[in-house]
Amino acid sequence: QSIQQISKSSYLNQSTATPAELRAALNIQGLSPSRIETFDIQKKRALAQLRSKTSDIEKYIFLAWLRNTNVRLFYGLIADQLEETLPLIYTPTVGTACQNYSSIFPFLAPPGQPDGLFLSINDLPNLKQIIQNYKPYPQDPSLTPQITVITDGSRILGLGDLGVGGMGIPVGKLQLYVAGAGVDPRRTIPITLDLGTNNQAKLDDEFYLGLRQKRVGDDQFFPFVDAVIEALTSLYPKILIQFEDFSSEHAFQLLEKYQPKKFCFNDDIQGTGAVILAGFMNAIDLAGIPAKNHKILFFGAGSAAVGVAKQLADYFRNEHGMPEDEARGMVWLVDSKGLVTLDRGDKLAEHKLYFARKDNDGKQFPSIASVIDYVKPTALFGLSSQSGAFSEDVLKSMAALNERPIVFPLSNPAYQAECSFEQAMVHTKGKVIFASGTAFPKYTDPETGVVSAPGQGNNMYIFPGLGLGGILAQPANISDRLIYTAARACAHALTKEERSQGLLYPVLPRIRQVSAEVAAAVISEAVAEGTATNEEAINIVKKNDQKALLDYVHGNMWTTDGVHGDISDFAP
Ligand code: NAP
Ligand code: MN
Repeated sequence: QSIQQISKSSYLNQSTATPAELRAALNIQGLSPSRIETFDIQKKRALAQLRSKTSDIEKYIFLAWLRNTNVRLFYGLIADQLEETLPLIYTPTVGTACQNYSSIFPFLAPPGQPDGLFLSINDLPNLKQIIQNYKPYPQDPSLTPQITVITDGSRILGLGDLGVGGMGIPVGKLQLYVAGAGVDPRRTIPITLDLGTNNQAKLDDEFYLGLRQKRVGDDQFFPFVDAVIEALTSLYPKILIQFEDFSSEHAFQLLEKYQPKKFCFNDDIQGTGAVILAGFMNAIDLAGIPAKNHKILFFGAGSAAVGVAKQLADYFRNEHGMPEDEARGMVWLVDSKGLVTLDRGDKLAEHKLYFARKDNDGKQFPSIASVIDYVKPTALFGLSSQSGAFSEDVLKSMAALNERPIVFPLSNPAYQAECSFEQAMVHTKGKVIFASGTAFPKYTDPETGVVSAPGQGNNMYIFPGLGLGGILAQPANISDRLIYTAARACAHALTKEERSQGLLYPVLPRIRQVSAEVAAAVISEAVAEGTATNEEAINIVKKNDQKALLDYVHGNMWTTDGVHGDISDFAP
């Protein structure tokens, strides 16, 4: 790497920690005050600045600027302050950032430093060339992208169509790959497809930065996505493609089309499915009734709900030897029109058909209360973005039906959650086995003073490790079996102590260990399946030494260590 690039590189520059010899060699003496600082003091200052901001969106802007000007300082800060910063770089703040993206975009990065890659429908003829324009860290061309997260902004979190504002999601998610599993930040590429937007407020907003047109139809959508995938994989044949926040119908169609032939997965469908399955496996142990006696009610029947339902059905087949029909019969779906049945009289979306009931004797159940009465569920999952849907009555019914009701209000952000942890605890008298989509505060029982911590079914327990395992094993594709393996590894990653506290998921500060275990399991399974292609990984798995495999995974995690303070790293 040429020495001249150092002070201008968002990756290599050390800002106020640049050593004296390097300042001299770079001819940058006098361009910052004389003090030469340590990384620790830089992180301390950055944290103080962060905390001085009064709103979360200002904090988001500050962190984006830091990431786009000093990568290692940014990730150093994130690693030290995970619990404080994750809600700022991802949900819930990323939702606000996406809603306001066009207003804040120019203030997220200095000129010339891309926040992510935008590909509009008009770029169709030039996709390959434009993709190669994305070089946020130009100093080392051998560091080609290993992973991309792609959205079209059509269904951002539970917030709907935000057009190009969706960029916050791929950008944010890739930061979680780095923070959670040590994917090299230089080898990630966030992509937002601009196919127009159906959000009238965006079309009317003078600051909106995307195409001012309605979304293109399927006749243009699918060929465009095809062309993007072709261009990407011809440039970077080993790249892992993660689809994110596409509208449900498209999400399922894209997954069905590409899963068999491309190295890809969809986190909304498969990642969510896996993380909820992991929590559910641990919840079954706590609930104390046999797996086959469970009845699982989904409130919401979109990409997330059906993704989770499919994983659960797979689990009942794989782990409990149930025939397909019986496993499928464990699940009831409720959408905006009530219980999803085959004879309801409306045309069901394709993705709802598999779990649509046919054993309802012609009866229909339009309200959640009527469905609960009829099904008598042991577990209730909320993936509807309907705030407050798990009302006092609903929670009380669940508690009346079950010794330990399993209630997972999974909708994001927090204000869309079907209920809060506190409500679930109060209305079930503390019996609930709980996991939510966003982090809720701990609950202190007013009488006993006992403090309980809510589980968070955060996809971050799965996708970073799955991605890293995929990158290291290089299987031809990500099979359902690999996703299932990731879920099981996550469920098993709980320590004895975490288990004894009744937790469903490991604590967040252990994320890199959890990701390593997930990655190791994915690599082993890819080798067992015969799809892994990376010889190094294959050879390590063949040694049959779990510790060696974990060491290999940890050894491949990027960290912020390294270049600080040593001029020899910058040999001209
Ligand atoms: P989606 O595709 O828009 O699905 C929403 C579903 O909710 C649809 O089936 C919709 O019914 C249903 N619904 C809407 N209003 C309803 C009502 N009043 N009663 C019953 N059902 C109703 O969204 P998605 O991608 O599946 O995501 C759903 C939620 O899950 C979002 O809030 C998202 O943030 C959250 N999520 C959480 C996690 C996690 O915690 N790890 C991961 C992924 C997603 P129709 O089909 O009839 O329109
Ligand atoms: Mn998503």
